[in-house]
Amino acid sequence: MFAQRTSLFKSSGTAAARAAAKAAADQGVDVIDLTCGEIFSDVAPAIRQGALAAIDRGVNRYTDTVGMIELRDALARKVSLETGQLWKSDEIAVTHGAKQALFNTAMVLLNAGDEVIIPSPYWTTFPAQVLAAGGQPVFVDTRLHGFVPEPDVIRTAITERTKVILINTPNNPTGAVYPEETLTQIIAIAKQHDLWIVFDECYGTFVHGGSVHHSITGLDPEIRARTVVINSFSKSLALTGWRLGYMAAPAPMVSAVKALQSHSTSNPNVIAQHAVLHYLRSGDGSFQDGLKTILSVNRDIGLRILADLKTIPLPKAEGGFYFYLDLSAYFRTAPGRGRFKDSLDLVTALISKAGVAGVSGTAFGDPTGLRLSYGVPADQLERGLTKLVGALNGWR
Ligand code: PLP
Repeated sequence: MFAQRTSLFKSSGTAAARAAAKAAADQGVDVIDLTCGEIFSDVAPAIRQGALAAIDRGVNRYTDTVGMIELRDALARKVSLETGQLWKSDEIAVTHGAKQALFNTAMVLLNAGDEVIIPSPYWTTFPAQVLAAGGQPVFVDTRLHGFVPEPDVIRTAITERTKVILINTPNNPTGAVYPEETLTQIIAIAKQHDLWIVFDECYGTFVHGGSVHHSITGLDPEIRARTVVINSFSKSLALTGWRLGYMAAPAPMVSAVKALQSHSTSNPNVIAQHAVLHYLRSGDGSFQDGLKTILSVNRDIGLRILADLKTIPLPKAEGGFYFYLDLSAYFRTAPGRGRFKDSLDLVTALISKAGVAGVSGTAFGDPTGLRLSYGVPADQLERGLTKLVGALNGWR
């Protein structure tokens, strides 16, 4: 009845994990939910003021499909500051969150069968969008290399169909932050093999413990001609529900995206555009710094509790707001034989037996992993992780 492409993807695994936590809570289980991909926070005052002022002025009309020129100018200035290079407004498209920027990119870059190299574990939407656009995801496993892709492994994954290398740093779900050296080598590979780089830096403002985030185009101006930078305000300003993101890319790519977006969603919500414009013009960065501090404090609390885990190495959690644990010691295949089939099996038991919910690595192409968000209030995090550590140590 439906088109064949609908069989290529399922509803997102992270949404399913949230739903499982909620279903258990509805049945009376006291569940601490560490599944969420967003930060608990109020709206930034400058965002609120910008939105209210736009409403008071009676703003209600379509804008340019890829965003108001004033906003694209402001974003071009932001990207210029972040990369140390000059960007212009015709190299920026404003989208309904980073998700649409990524979807536009897949639709505009990929022909049927074109391959996209994606380091794994990966954010669940990356391969789904590649498939939706007719492309083919090709995964490179990062689990044995601290969740950072080995340039040589990327090289061996390249075929004559490869079109794109998709990079996400700081990484969801692993929390890895790619070192400058890795990015420099990826740049060299892309140039040598005539590939595009899609660079998702949605978590770029959240790096912890001395890690440094490098925006890839800042490392080599030449790579701009074959790079699409993806970013959004969902994480950096805790604005997930407002749906505002953007891409920075060569002007012809932005024109192609504009044509596509004009037939899908048209412009992103105009009030959200005014709000973010006001923030960019008047915000002093203190709100964002405050979010980063909250996350850093939570990360320290979490690492202190997780240090009591007897069987699982402490995650590095360099960026974003996720702890990513290796559960494989608990599987039936492990030496000494654990009691669980895979991480999905263990995550289900964690909800019902320990009352704590995380996202199984199966949602990220990794049946051995578990993602736990620390973007939640500190007391919730403490209670949730304490329950988790108690259960996991008990199940050894
Ligand atoms: N990219 C990554 C790596 C993400 O984790 C997410 C959201 O979880 C997005 C993009 C999408 O963000 P947005 O809410 O801006 O669409």
